[in-house]
Order: sequence, then C-alpha cells, then structure tokens
Amino acid sequence: MHKFYFKKKFDQYFLKDHNIAKKIVNYLSFEGYNTVVEVGPGLGILTKYLLKLNNKTDSCNHIFLIEIDEKLICFLRKIFPSYRDKIIHRDFLKWNPEEIHLQNFAVIGNFPYKISSQILFHILKYNQYIPECIGMFQKEVAKRITSRKGKKTYGILSVLVQTFYNVKYLFTVKKKVFFPTPNVQSGVISLKRKNEMIHCNKNMLFQCVKIAFNQRRKKLRNSLQLFNYIQNFHEIPFLNKRAEELSVNEFLQLTKEIEIRK
Ligand code: SAH
Repeated sequence: MHKFYFKKKFDQYFLKDHNIAKKIVNYLSFEGYNTVVEVGPGLGILTKYLLKLNNKTDSCNHIFLIEIDEKLICFLRKIFPSYRDKIIHRDFLKWNPEEIHLQNFAVIGNFPYKISSQILFHILKYNQYIPECIGMFQKEVAKRITSRKGKKTYGILSVLVQTFYNVKYLFTVKKKVFFPTPNVQSGVISLKRKNEMIHCNKNMLFQCVKIAFNQRRKKLRNSLQLFNYIQNFHEIPFLNKRAEELSVNEFLQLTKEIEIRK
C-alpha cells in the first residue's frame, strides 16, 4: 500500500514512525472529554494507537475518523472493521459536528498541510465543542500558531488561536519519517481550551485581527482606518502601536473598545 498509494492533491504524507505516532496520541489528556475525532487518518498509523487507548482505558470511549479520500476510507474500513460506522467519508472543512450530535470532543491529526489554516479556523468555529487539539502541522505553521507578541512569526493565527486556547509547541518531526518525503519539517502542537469566555464579539475580533495584521508594519491608527466612522475613534487605545506589538488580551480589549463606539 505504502509503495504505490498516495495522492498529492490530498496532501498525503504518511507517517512511518510508530514511536512518533504513539507519542502524538499519548498527548491527549482526556480531561473533560471521552470522544476523539481524527482528521485525515490516511493509512491509520495514529488511529492504531488511538484504538489501543480505546481498548486499554475507559477514558476514550468514542472515536470518529474523517477522511476525504474514498480509497483510504475503503482501506480503513477493511483494517478496522468494528469501527466501520465511525469512519466518515467527508471533507473535514465541510463537516459539522452537530450532524452526529457531537458536542464535546478532542481533535487529533497529522493534518494536510495545504489547508492547515482552514482546519484551524474550522476548529475555532466550533471551539465551544472542542476542549483540546493535538495536531501535526508544517513546522513553520506550528511555530506561527504558538508564537508570542513581538516575534516575526506572530500573526493572525497566533492571536486567534491563542484567544481561545493555551498553545504549546511539543516537538519537531523530521522529514525522513514520512512517505513520500515532504519538502518541509513538521511540528506537533497542543491546544487546550481556555476557561475564560471572551467578552467581545467573535466576528468583530476576527475582523480586527485580520485587518491589523494585513498591514502589520503600519500603526493601528492607519490599518484600522476602516473603523474611523465610529464615534471618538481617536480615543481607542493602542492606535500608536503596530499589530505585532499587541498581546492577545490587548486585541480583545481593542475589539471591545471598537464595539462600544459603534
Ligand atoms: N494521519 C496519516 C495521514 C496524514 S496525510 C498519517 O499520519 O500517516 C493527510 C491526510 O489527510 C490524508 O489521509 C488525506 O487524504 C487527508 N485529507 C486531506 N484533505 C482532507 C480534508 N479536507 N478532510 C479530511 N481529510 C483530508
């Protein structure tokens, strides 16, 4: 199977190293959830260790696999026959957890790299249902997600993901442990949902962060021109700063200040 089967269009880079697969799965904490959704299980290397957990402990009771490639779906149903009905043939980006009444689950995956940002935005869309995510991304993206203010890599993904999740860069994975060999290194990260609720409008926050970082070298006074129709625009804090100088909490504060003047 490994030798002839892979599709570039679905971003298929299969992990070969079982120790790494096991290590990734073991980062799931099962704190406050007992259901796991795996995105892009491929040939099932992570799945195998997920199912082992499932047999060993009571903590992991439900596993769902979401895979876009029909051929892989057939393969997975063959090798994991007792999970047939948990193997879902779908594009994760179009999958709504409410369809199968899932309201509290972790997400795990060696994610398709080309759509990593979209996967993260999908997770953020359903963050109220997702307390934890353990994911492998292209290393550079993993670094961006976990970056802090003031760093070059700090950007839209860092702020939006860190608004809802405590993030941690776990470890780097070398190219040679995949088939075919990708051009980039990978990084595994963990997202643990924060307890605090945000006090500003989610859509407004997304809009502010995107606008601010789209012109990251400009002072917010200029990049946020779009909002200058609001009352007392000049009273908004941080206008003399640049997007990369604002912490996550400061972005929340900024959004709130814009909202109350609308
Ligand atoms: N988890 C496996 C495969 C990783 S490669 C391993 O570690 O070896 C990425 C996987 O995501 C492939 O199986 C690919 O078919 C699948 N995939 C790509 N786009 C997807 C999408 N939009 N929704 C669900 N799965 C997708």
